[in-house]
Amino acid sequence: MIQLAEVLSGKKKVALGGHIRPDGDCVGSCMGLYLYLKEQYPTLQTDVYLETIPESFHILKDTQIIRHRIMDEQCYDLFICLDCGDSKRLGFSEPLFESAKETLCIDHHVSNPSFADYNYIEPDASSTSELVFRLLDKEKISLSCAESLYMGIAHDTGVFQYSCTSPETMEAAAELLRKGVDASALIERTFYEKTYVQTQILGKALLESMLVLDKQCIISYVTAKELRFFEAKPADLEGIVSQLRYTSGTEVAMFLYELEFQVFKVSLRSKSRVDVSRVAQYFGGGGHVRAAGLTMKGTVHDVITNVLEQIALQLEKTA
Ligand code: 5GP
Ligand code: MN
Repeated sequence: MIQLAEVLSGKKKVALGGHIRPDGDCVGSCMGLYLYLKEQYPTLQTDVYLETIPESFHILKDTQIIRHRIMDEQCYDLFICLDCGDSKRLGFSEPLFESAKETLCIDHHVSNPSFADYNYIEPDASSTSELVFRLLDKEKISLSCAESLYMGIAHDTGVFQYSCTSPETMEAAAELLRKGVDASALIERTFYEKTYVQTQILGKALLESMLVLDKQCIISYVTAKELRFFEAKPADLEGIVSQLRYTSGTEVAMFLYELEFQVFKVSLRSKSRVDVSRVAQYFGGGGHVRAAGLTMKGTVHDVITNVLEQIALQLEKTA
């Protein structure tokens, strides 16, 4: 395990960045670490680079400081990459990672090849937010830092339900709760609450889902045209694949949406037998054993057929 104080030693300018289309763990880990550094290392310049974040995440402190583009050609002493399985997934902030004097990666993706100078990669950890928690001096964690990390852990564990939830996860959450986090409000507002559009598109995706591979796999998709009709953004589709996964008798859930003409983002979830990170990595994506994703070009039917083929191979082996 790395020592944060050692990595920060002698540094003046630090950038934090997370993956494209940031989710709860990405934003929670970045903002949690940012708030800690701001409070404990006040002379350090700390900037956060993330794409636009879901509206409800602005409940966290200081999210207005997040930079959505590179403002000037800064050369950072250290770039800390959070919740990102490979440097391409940083998106617009990747040039800052490349130009930084040193780099640190904190992540829990099994597909992460340890691409930074310092790497703290724990594939068994529930979330990057839990890993950030482990690196911090517990006494010095403020309420706002605790809120960010708690949100990240809650989101990546499906509110402490997925199999990645360990006793250590619950202990981290307990310590954060003791800081005074209003957990029920935070979870309701950022995890369960949906806009009307999100509710409608979830309903449509569930209604039009189909069972394949002897009913072991459930699939649904949304086209770019449908997204325009609903005036929905990719972030509005968060949670659909998890809902599909709850269907009894299924092992794998697959949800696709069209990023641009015939380019599909595919989300995969599994229950116990299929390693979806292997399926995703086969097509250049990545993730975790039970939750992974990839992007593929082609018609929706081609993409589904290709991904199903890899899922079927694993289902046959474990039948
Ligand atoms: P989701 O399906 O929610 O987008 O992603 C599930 C998990 O897989 C997340 O941990 C996410 O970071 C990872 N993931 C999703 N898409 C990709 C991808 O294209 N490449 C990589 N390396 N990881 C991905
Ligand atoms: Mn994560």
